[in-house]
Amino acid sequence: MANEQENVEALDAVVAGAGFAGLYALYRLRAMGLTVRALEAADDVGGTWYWNRYPGARCDVESMAYSYSFSPELEREWVWTERYAGQPEILRYLQHVAERFDLRPLIRFRTRLAAAHYDEAGGLWRLTTERGGRLAARFLVMATGCLSQPRVPPIAELETFAGRIYRTSQWPHEDVDFSGLRVGVIGTGSSAIQCIPLIAAQAAHLTVFQRTPNFSVPAHNAPLEPAARRALMDNYPPFRKALREGFTSLLPEETPQPAALELAPEERERRYRAAWEEGGIKLMFCISDGITSKPANDTLVKFMHDRIREIVHDPAVAERLLPRDFPLGTKRLCVDTDYYATFNRPNVTLVDLRATPIVAATPAGLRTSAAEHALDSLVFATGFDAVTGALLAVDIRGRAGRRLADDWRDGPRMYLGLMAAGYPNLFAITGPGSPSVLSNMVVSIEQHVDFVAELIAALGARGARTVEAQAAAQDAWVAHVAEVAQGTLYPQANSWYMGSNIPGKPRVFLPYVGGVGPYRRKCAEIAAAGYAGFELHA
Ligand SMILES: Cc1cc2nc3c(=O)[nH]c(=O)nc-3n(C[C@H](O)[C@H](O)[C@H](O)COP(=O)(O)OP(=O)(O)OC[C@H]3O[C@@H](n4cnc5c(N)ncnc54)[C@H](O)[C@@H]3O)c2cc1C
Repeated sequence: MANEQENVEALDAVVAGAGFAGLYALYRLRAMGLTVRALEAADDVGGTWYWNRYPGARCDVESMAYSYSFSPELEREWVWTERYAGQPEILRYLQHVAERFDLRPLIRFRTRLAAAHYDEAGGLWRLTTERGGRLAARFLVMATGCLSQPRVPPIAELETFAGRIYRTSQWPHEDVDFSGLRVGVIGTGSSAIQCIPLIAAQAAHLTVFQRTPNFSVPAHNAPLEPAARRALMDNYPPFRKALREGFTSLLPEETPQPAALELAPEERERRYRAAWEEGGIKLMFCISDGITSKPANDTLVKFMHDRIREIVHDPAVAERLLPRDFPLGTKRLCVDTDYYATFNRPNVTLVDLRATPIVAATPAGLRTSAAEHALDSLVFATGFDAVTGALLAVDIRGRAGRRLADDWRDGPRMYLGLMAAGYPNLFAITGPGSPSVLSNMVVSIEQHVDFVAELIAALGARGARTVEAQAAAQDAWVAHVAEVAQGTLYPQANSWYMGSNIPGKPRVFLPYVGGVGPYRRKCAEIAAAGYAGFELHA
């Protein structure tokens, strides 16, 4: 419905983003009879899986767990082909979801939300898009993603570089052919670890510019075995239940594990070996205290160092690849195919930027404090302004014009990672202070969207028009999130979980580490108690 005079489109709800979160939010809110639209900066659905098209991009939570559970029909008809689906397959899945549930007509593509100002008198969010479009909505759902705001570190004189520049987070849609070229990859986080082996196999030469070495475990990716896949497809509900109610939501089976130091060294080694052979992030979870006890974590670190030294032939290169200054898992544990072995290739060079930092780009490549590296192409795999970046990129103003950017100057403040005091009817999906990036994101997204949909329904049932977090409940939750994090090893790392990769970003542990199942139960208790900690107003 457009108000002709003001040329403002008036809706019940606007969803920002059309990735996993935005698509499901559209589906749920439309089913409640609300008029709803999504604004999406990209020209198609998919979010992460639209943007990150670099070679080797794939999920590191197994495909059958990294998928929606809200529709049994969808579960029955979608057949995942690999243990860890590649980006093209996940994007096809999300495109299928958009078409199957007829969501595309609800989405404005190439439309970035620039500003959201709360109009107290009207009880509405007044929204402005980057191109000047205007909308008004009672409810605003920020499904803008935790890893969607790319971070590109400044490099002096980059504009002089004569070759091509790529970013893993905004990869071109057409095929990129590195054959015969000298390529540089900056970064050794998850995206770099996925693309480095494939670029090395194609390029004439690959130079990897590493600041911080990372831990990576083998994926042992493979086609899914048809009989096992069918058995799971026929029996999804208990599998989903285990993911939702377990601590991590990453793996369905979460039997209690022993503490590392209670095990005899040989038994510990046997467990770590078994997890390594099985592949994926299981290594983190085959003991109970990997993320809470430094001595326990040290045993994992030693195991990983031994594997890296075993795989990498040149001892000097192996030493440079050993992560030494943070406990395993306190930065996202990467999952790879042949990452460390790639450094045995004669056409791969590892440059340690801590020893020899980049000084500047030149027309012919990159100059470090030690040498000039000749390059035809440069790939930035330098991560994201995680969790808060996409939220703060929008000029959000709540009651009395207060600005979210001001309220979050010392770190984000949200109740349950869902709502902020002073910002009525504004919801974040997987916001700061919720399990978000520590969890299987699809599980967390579905739980948040369901919570928001039920809360909006509860407003209607009570004749209320607005809901917002109470300041005291928010303060208590923020303190709880920090306290739980302090009980772990996470704060010991300079990680993007802590905001450390962004100059000037407050050093605050962003996700909630108290567990996915416990968090879900807490949310359910709060809802059952009449939305304790939320204020509902007529
Ligand atoms: C390479 C990579 C691999 C990953 N692998 C896994 C994995 O294996 N398991 C896992 O659990 N998680 C993984 N993640 C995290 C992943 O981001 C989430 O799993 C999930 O895709 C998030 O969905 P989302 O809809 O919340 O956000 P996104 O997928 O990030 O979608 C957000 C969308 O919002 C749009 N947007 C942002 N701001 C605006 C705005 N102001 N206006 C309009 N549109 C806007 C963006 O264009 C984007 O399309 C991975 C992330 C990356 C980058």
